[in-house]
Amino acid sequence: MPKQYFSLRNLKFTLHEVHESQEITQYPYFSHIDREAIDMILDSAIQIADNILAPVAIEMDREHMAHFHDGKVTVHPAVKKYIKAVGDAGLIASRAPLEVGGSQLPETLNVAIAFVMGAANNAITAYAGLSEGASNLILSFGSQYLKDTYLQKMYAGDWQGTMCLTEPQAGSSLHYITSSALPTDEAGKYKIKGQKIYITAGDHDQTDNVVHLYLARIDGAPAGTKGISLFVVPQKRVENGQFVPNDVKTIGIFHKMGQKGCPAVHIEAGNNDECYGWLLGEANKGLTYMFQMMNEARIGVGTTGACIASAAYYAALEYANERPQGQLLNVKGQDPNAPQTLIINHPDVKRMLMLQKAITEGSLSLIMQGAKYADLLHVSEGEDKEKYQLLLDFLTPVIKTYPTEAGIQSVSSSLQVFGGGGFCEDFPLEKLYRDIRITTIYEGTTGIQSLALLGRNITMKNGKAAMLFFQEVMKDIEASKTHEDLKKYANTLASKLAEVQRVTQHLVGFAMKGETERFLADATLYMEMFGIITIAWQWLKQATVAKNALLTQNPQGDDLQFYESKVHSMRFYFAYELPKTLGLAVRLLDDELLTIGVENTILV
Ligand SMILES: Cc1cc2nc3c(=O)[nH]c(=O)nc-3n(C[C@H](O)[C@H](O)[C@H](O)COP(=O)(O)OP(=O)(O)OC[C@H]3O[C@@H](n4cnc5c(N)ncnc54)[C@H](O)[C@@H]3O)c2cc1C
Repeated sequence: MPKQYFSLRNLKFTLHEVHESQEITQYPYFSHIDREAIDMILDSAIQIADNILAPVAIEMDREHMAHFHDGKVTVHPAVKKYIKAVGDAGLIASRAPLEVGGSQLPETLNVAIAFVMGAANNAITAYAGLSEGASNLILSFGSQYLKDTYLQKMYAGDWQGTMCLTEPQAGSSLHYITSSALPTDEAGKYKIKGQKIYITAGDHDQTDNVVHLYLARIDGAPAGTKGISLFVVPQKRVENGQFVPNDVKTIGIFHKMGQKGCPAVHIEAGNNDECYGWLLGEANKGLTYMFQMMNEARIGVGTTGACIASAAYYAALEYANERPQGQLLNVKGQDPNAPQTLIINHPDVKRMLMLQKAITEGSLSLIMQGAKYADLLHVSEGEDKEKYQLLLDFLTPVIKTYPTEAGIQSVSSSLQVFGGGGFCEDFPLEKLYRDIRITTIYEGTTGIQSLALLGRNITMKNGKAAMLFFQEVMKDIEASKTHEDLKKYANTLASKLAEVQRVTQHLVGFAMKGETERFLADATLYMEMFGIITIAWQWLKQATVAKNALLTQNPQGDDLQFYESKVHSMRFYFAYELPKTLGLAVRLLDDELLTIGVENTILV
């Protein structure tokens, strides 16, 4: 096992120095914690990660993967230990207010915790993550009865929460959901019928109950998304003070490529007409409510991409510092008896490692930026509240997409550093490579996120969200210019912003002419371009903070190296990654249409 899976120094730099955690804890809502408390909470998360999660990561993938037999789903016993530990630490209720027994932690800290735990063992964190998302929905929209029945059990880790959206005919397009809900004599109680597929943590033996947050249509509801309601459908319901089975059964488990420690199950509700669900909030508003959980989950999936990339990077870095192979390019052939050099000394290996570092740390910074907007949104009023809401909504598809798409590239590159070993089970890379692959698929595929960015967010509120985003980037560009040697990079980023604005105007022109297909055909390429530029913003921001520290703090030893490495990584990103937007812009401005208006027979 590699010695390290994340850098605490970098995590604290991102949280405290770049995204200034103390700005958030000054607000009354978060004033129960300060920087010291943040570090202590982070420390206890690291203890859980080191002692419970990391030691079983490989075991959960191989000997103790989720298993379905005789109608029962069994998972690794560490799941119970983990979910109880995070429950006891108040981390399942981390976003809930103090007055309902929550921990009321800032999102920036939640992201840091999720990053550490996911880097230790990405297959286990979904259990608590889903319980938290589901309980937050009950807290936000549930009746007092639902809150009293479910919240404490879910916060404590005694009951598992899930999100039940997908059906065989309704994946990306939830319009087509057919699960049904028939009113009973009891207000708010419905008979549920239908099937859901791929439900993560949808059934297992390590909690006493599973509470599904289930999308279904009330009999007679309108077609499409406007007719979807949200229900709480427990696996076991309370009847006359007793727990009875609720006729929601697992009929299969999916044999997944990765994250094998966590089951994705096929469930059937109401096969015996005995499945009951309780309406959450108002009828027909289910999808709107579910968006709260989906948006939290999207940021969560972006974090999963970044933390898997982190685990893979540190494994590759350790290996590259130990593996001797070949000679340096400038001595090759000159001395056949020269000892072999470590592979980290080959420029191509160094390039691969720098790419991994740039993607991992750039992604973490972007995710933390989104979390900071979520925190500011929570504590602001009026215009400011609208501003942070727009910024968060605007960036969410990018936060879901860049760390996962680039994360796959990053982990592939980590695997490459291991040579043949990377392809074999002797090292954790083949597992991490399989694990990360799902992240661009669930919680809305990259294609769907890209349609959201270009088709909805760019023009949201007459372009106000996009304008606010560009202003945020410009603010950091200006701040970086106080350092003479960052000016070149500041100007490059400003020109890239102009480039993406030119492309945006060109594409929006088609939307205005009603040519929707032409407007959105290459939305995924637009997302790629936008993501690369967004990460350049985060790198310039980090380099500015590092430069400030180098100038004002006279850092020595590890600190000096750390800040210098930040500036170098920014330069690497600007030199190796940012120019890729040029090719994307050429394509996005090109009039040659190759994917629309052509017969399917072209694909033979
Ligand atoms: C391991 C795993 C865990 C999951 N966990 C959960 C869970 O807990 N709860 C839950 O409800 N669901 C869950 N899902 C389901 C997941 O969210 C869906 O698989 C995902 O939304 C994609 O839906 P689909 O598989 O039906 O693919 P499809 O929707 O059929 O998409 C197939 C391809 O077509 C593209 N496509 C589809 N529609 C469009 C369009 N309009 N425009 C452009 N391109 C399009 C997609 O981008 C994709 O590339 C999970 C899935 C997996 C594999």
